[in-house]
Amino acid sequence: MRYYVLDRGDPLSVELTQQFHKLAEQRGFVLDAESPEIVVSIGGDGTMLHAFHTFIDRIPDLAFVGVHTGHLGFYADWKADELTELIDHMSGEGEHSGMKPRLVKYPLVQLEIHKKSGTSSYIALNEFTLKGVDGTVVAQIDINDVTFEMFRGDGICVSTPSGSTAYNKSVGGAMVHPSIDALQIAEIASINNRIFRTLGSPLLLPKHHHCDIFSRKEQRLLLTIDHVNISIDDLVSVRCQVAEQQVSFARYRPFPFWNRVRDAFLG
Ligand code: NAP
Repeated sequence: MRYYVLDRGDPLSVELTQQFHKLAEQRGFVLDAESPEIVVSIGGDGTMLHAFHTFIDRIPDLAFVGVHTGHLGFYADWKADELTELIDHMSGEGEHSGMKPRLVKYPLVQLEIHKKSGTSSYIALNEFTLKGVDGTVVAQIDINDVTFEMFRGDGICVSTPSGSTAYNKSVGGAMVHPSIDALQIAEIASINNRIFRTLGSPLLLPKHHHCDIFSRKEQRLLLTIDHVNISIDDLVSVRCQVAEQQVSFARYRPFPFWNRVRDAFLG
């Protein structure tokens, strides 16, 4: 098995990475930074975002596994003291011999950012946000090439189902099960009064739909793609749609999404 490990950099995560390498060597795994089959993220959900973007060009060819060294995560569900069990599962040794992992596939959001100076494409695991730097964002939102609304407010959050438990949740979006191939558009503090009007509630777009966000004034904007921030002052528009490709997570034991929601938010 070709593997790679990324950690958060704190002492416990670094120690676990070293332990993982030792156990992996004993089982004949090969450390491969270029073309791993499995990428293990040790830290938290934020670490998984880094791992995802590190291997963004190889997403269809690998699967991720997350170990958390802080609190239970949505992408990081193995505990620090379960490292040996995890690696036994990965190698199919001990009581887990012959057991194959189930690959769970989650939808992603595809973005095309059009600036006066050119176009770039990105993929988000959690979400894309567009926020104002100097003041109120003014943006026209089209759905499937038809004008939907003129947005005024702090910003817009476009999330994946697995990202629905992150920023999206903080702005009142719904939790979406990752088996649903959809993206969610949620407003961040929209202005609503007799003159300015937006839908005022989050909405879900299915896979075959798209939305375009057009900048409608000269404005400095902050775009975020997961943990990546981009400052921009010449945005024309952003097209958002459910990506063709999906991300795979290796599941060696069941941990249903709703159980994770309950354990993470309700205790
Ligand atoms: P950060 O500000 O250091 O951490 C943000 C928090 O979001 C961490 O507690 C992280 O969990 C958690 N998180 C990440 N993905 C999640 C998911 N899918 N479901 C539930 N919680 C999740 O930033 P970061 O570590 O670089 O992560 C960037 C992410 O932070 C963004 O994608 C965005 O979703 C989130 N964020 C949220 C808010 C907000 O809620 N107001 C504001 C800014 C950014 P761990 O502790 O396990 O890493």
